[in-house]
Amino acid sequence: MDVKLLAHTPNPEQLVAAAARICYKDVPASQLLQGEEEKLSRSLIEDLFRSGHTSTFEHVSFTFGIDGLSRTASHQLVRHRLASFSQQSQRYVKMSPDPEAVIIPPAIAANPQARELFRESVRHAQEVYRALAEMGIPKEDARFILPHGYSTRLVLTMNARELHHFFSLRLCRRAQWEIHELARRMLALCREAAPVLFGKAGPKCIFGACEEARSCGKPYRDMEELLSD
Ligand SMILES: Cc1cc2nc3c(=O)[nH]c(=O)nc-3n(C[C@H](O)[C@H](O)[C@H](O)COP(=O)(O)OP(=O)(O)OC[C@H]3O[C@@H](n4cnc5c(N)ncnc54)[C@H](O)[C@@H]3O)c2cc1C
Repeated sequence: MDVKLLAHTPNPEQLVAAAARICYKDVPASQLLQGEEEKLSRSLIEDLFRSGHTSTFEHVSFTFGIDGLSRTASHQLVRHRLASFSQQSQRYVKMSPDPEAVIIPPAIAANPQARELFRESVRHAQEVYRALAEMGIPKEDARFILPHGYSTRLVLTMNARELHHFFSLRLCRRAQWEIHELARRMLALCREAAPVLFGKAGPKCIFGACEEARSCGKPYRDMEELLSD
């Protein structure tokens, strides 16, 4: 999986702090971005977290380029309705005949018998896909034979409030392993770009309290453990 932060709103923390200042201080809009010290922005953002005034986070967004995610995981990803997506089309793009284009879950990769069975099935599906294309069947129909594990590419944009929500759900140990890994990489990039804004982003076992009906039984100690997992 390859995850890149393609773009984000410039000066995201300064902008969130400016949005908060217009709520709490009598500052003209023309001066909102002037003279805002980094230290002041930090304490303001920390207050916003504490008070739950996180609509201010909606003013900044982050855009990621994602490669090598399975369609199984992308199906979960697109359930996040407040995000924007552009995903490679299987109607227009011919799928690679390379067996490596199908993501193998670690549990299958670690079991030689399961791995061979999986690879054999992928080879067969790819063979049928090619044969259907040669018969003149359109790609949009031939793709019905392809496995869910086929790798896909996406451009994804979320605002910082939605990112917090996404991280709280998908960085839970009980989230599916692939979307968990995606969330982990996205958070690492967000923390680089806006360390204060994402300083308290993560699963509920670290920031709040676990709400899972069936807890994993091994909550993360801290973000260091999660990010190095
Ligand atoms: C561990 C796990 C297991 C899951 N298992 C299943 C499953 O078995 N089957 C399944 O179908 N899905 C499953 N899901 C997906 C889940 O139900 C959500 O669709 C997905 O997590 C997106 O979350 P969301 O709706 O909170 O977030 P988003 O769509 O990102 O929305 C963010 C928030 O905005 C608000 N919001 C958005 N749209 C509306 C709306 N129309 N009305 C009111 N409020 C809104 C809500 O507060 C919501 O939390 C699972 C998710 C997780 C994390």
